[in-house]
Amino acid sequence: MKSDNPDWENLEEVSFEIEKEAFSPKSMTCSDCKRKMSRSAMEVQIDSNIFVKVNGFECAKCHKKYLGLEESKKMDRAMVLNRIINDSISMKRKLSFDGDNYTFRVPKELTQNVEKKKIEIIPIGPNRFCATMQ
Ligand SMILES: [Zn+2]
Repeated sequence: MKSDNPDWENLEEVSFEIEKEAFSPKSMTCSDCKRKMSRSAMEVQIDSNIFVKVNGFECAKCHKKYLGLEESKKMDRAMVLNRIINDSISMKRKLSFDGDNYTFRVPKELTQNVEKKKIEIIPIGPNRFCATMQ
C-alpha cells in the first residue's frame, strides 16, 4: 500500500451478480401458497418515528409480504441513517484537498475485516454522506 489515502480515481465499481428481475421484480409467487402475489405499498417502521414507504408484494391468502432487492436496499439505507441520527459518537478528521477531491484518513479503530480496500459512499444531504468500508 503506497499511502493511507484511498485512490479515488481508480476505485473499482462494485458489481453484483444478481438477476435483473430480483432488483425490481414485476411479479412474485408466494413460496408457501404457490399463488401469484399482488403488488402492495407498505410502510415499514424503522424506529419510533421513522417510516419507510416501500413497494412490495403481498400474498392474498397468507398475507406474507415480500420485497425486491431494490426496495430492501431502501430499507437498509433508512436503518443506516437511523443509526447515524441516534449515534452520539463522532470524531473530527482533517480534510485534504487535491484540487478535485477531498480525502481524509479513517482511524483503524473504525475498521474491521476490510479486505478489498473499497468504500461505498451514499450521499445523504449537502456535506453529508454515509461511507461503508468493504
Ligand atoms: Zn401465501
